[in-house]
Amino acid sequence: LDELNITLHENDPHLWSLPRRRADGHKFDAGNCVVISGDNLHTGAARLSAWGAVRAGAGLVTLAGNAPALMVHAAHVTAIMLETCDDGAALAEMLEDRRKNCVVLGPGLGVGEPARQMVLAALASAAAVVLDADALTSFAERPTALFEAIRQRDGRSTVMTPHMGEFARLFGAGGGAKTEKAISAAGISGAVILLKGADTVIAHPEGRAVINTTGTPLLATAGAGDVLAGLIGGLLAQHMPAFEAACAAAYIHGRAAQAHGRPGMIADDLPAMVPAILADLA
Ligand code: AMP
Ligand code: MG
Repeated sequence: LDELNITLHENDPHLWSLPRRRADGHKFDAGNCVVISGDNLHTGAARLSAWGAVRAGAGLVTLAGNAPALMVHAAHVTAIMLETCDDGAALAEMLEDRRKNCVVLGPGLGVGEPARQMVLAALASAAAVVLDADALTSFAERPTALFEAIRQRDGRSTVMTPHMGEFARLFGAGGGAKTEKAISAAGISGAVILLKGADTVIAHPEGRAVINTTGTPLLATAGAGDVLAGLIGGLLAQHMPAFEAACAAAYIHGRAAQAHGRPGMIADDLPAMVPAILADLA
């Protein structure tokens, strides 16, 4: 690690500071995090992200998808807003509203050209962007197109949250330690890389990395990663810098699972555990 000039820290609340509400704060001060939905048969993953974003403290969260998908969401959500968005062009138009300052894409999105168009529309916008799951896999055959679009963002917050499989599809299986892989991928892509697993590594394009140790094997359950993507989005919407938001979200996500702490925990249980962790960190 020394040779690579890497500074590696264990994730710790001293490395970041969480957003604070001002006494006269308005909900728009805490951002509007847009979460892109999959189709009507694949809505659950985006809903988990949306609950993550709103529990992280985003002022507003908007689930965006086609009309049949929104009908399903409508049966399940209360505080989360719903807005029709059918394709990349519609997303570009939606993001002209600068109050929508963060977009989370990938959970349940599906892979292919429509997904790629959505991702490129998000990256071309002024909003902070979290790319997870199918948003990453959609670029498996042409990762350089994704990295090029990220480079053109000129430093606007971009976080990618692959697990090892998603990571290998974009950056190759390759050798080397997990930390080195994540740092090299951050440098290549220009995004903050949060490489998931039992030990989650968060890497900055400039070569810093943090290893998160709050995780628990209880998190090895369907949808846990979708909640994490939403937590990052919710913190980005509140104007946290990308690297800090990714570190804080990974820390909070692990602590939330520990706080639940019982076998049978499911991803749906995680968002409700977040306020107690935030209170503890305040
Ligand atoms: P995903 O693979 O997208 O569902 O994300 C799974 C989430 O659970 C990630 O945040 C992982 O870091 C976390 N996770 C999975 N397995 C473990 C484990 N054995 N110990 C700690 N965290 C885990
Ligand atoms: Mg996942």
